[in-house]
Amino acid sequence: MNADDATPSNDLAGELRQLIRTSGPISVAHYMHLCLTHPQHGYYRKADAIGASGDFVTAPEISQIFGELIGIWVAATWQQWGELQALHVVELGPGRGTMMADVLRTLNVVPGLQEKTRATLIEISPRLRAAQRQSLADYADRVAWAESLTDITTDQPPVPTIILANEFFDALPITQQVETADGWVERTVCLDSTDALVFSPGDGAIRETRRDALRRGAPSLMDDLHALARTRPTALIAIDYGYEGPAHGDTLQAMQSQSYAAVLENPGRHDLTAHVDFAELATELQSAGFITDGPLSQAEFLAGLGFAARLERLRQGKSARDTNVIDTAAHRLVADPGMGTHFRVLGARSAGLPPLIPFPARREPDTS
Ligand code: SAH
Repeated sequence: MNADDATPSNDLAGELRQLIRTSGPISVAHYMHLCLTHPQHGYYRKADAIGASGDFVTAPEISQIFGELIGIWVAATWQQWGELQALHVVELGPGRGTMMADVLRTLNVVPGLQEKTRATLIEISPRLRAAQRQSLADYADRVAWAESLTDITTDQPPVPTIILANEFFDALPITQQVETADGWVERTVCLDSTDALVFSPGDGAIRETRRDALRRGAPSLMDDLHALARTRPTALIAIDYGYEGPAHGDTLQAMQSQSYAAVLENPGRHDLTAHVDFAELATELQSAGFITDGPLSQAEFLAGLGFAARLERLRQGKSARDTNVIDTAAHRLVADPGMGTHFRVLGARSAGLPPLIPFPARREPDTS
């Protein structure tokens, strides 16, 4: 038995063993779900997962340029929609709240827009919610929290809504299937003869889908998005690392202290994510009534929003040493190969809205 698992503090390992002993192997999706969101021992109960001192670093924590360019995108989209009287900006999985603070500050580029905007943060972790409250203290009068999108689908009157999701979809559980002599079967987590957690036997090809997580629940995340798209102008951008399907093998990964860890060791102590299949996400969003734009690489998306000009502005008046720090961080966001190419941005808009900025207009089908 893994010595670390045996310590009383890793209660989730013990609970998982008990669960598997009494009810049999659990699916990879169920394992991921419990590791991340278990009410006592889930990873998101932990305080400082994100940021330089945490287990992983995300784009908004690397450079303020990221959130500022998202803010510019929000402002440009609002202008594109005809400068409506009110705007609702919603963020899925806002982490430490850094990106939303950068977005709201940047809305100042359009006089009066910040005052017309309210923000809702959809966050599952109580500790991260507390961190967000701190980051957003300056905007306390226009920020609210919700457990899920369901809480805002019935808002009256419906307000045009922009939904932001950076590294949110990768945290939703994936279902894995493994190819065996009997065909594709669901991959599970079970116990070996030494009582250690292991994947179900089978070393064939692996394929993944996130469809169950997107559609689970009544209403599901996709039901809620559909309800928003039906009742108000709605746009969404999803930024994540991933690929455009189909099947890409096993992408489930664990991160602890910014290094890869073993997926089945120390459950609940490390972040578990899996790559986003953007083709699948686009198809799901289309079924929910959206038209999708992209995906673009993160580098293309940020360049299209004026990355170079924003960087120049941030460097102005700074010492050589500071500009160096600013440059290094900013260039990490657009590195090729690196975040600039591994991360993609998918846009989605409700019917009747023009193509989102800065996605290239889709060529209309040739009818001549
Ligand atoms: N967007 C942030 C954080 C990314 S980490 C950043 O870029 O820094 C994933 C975030 O999603 C965390 O805030 C996590 O608590 C949240 N999260 C994960 N699953 C969730 C769910 N089902 N509902 C709401 N929030 C969730």
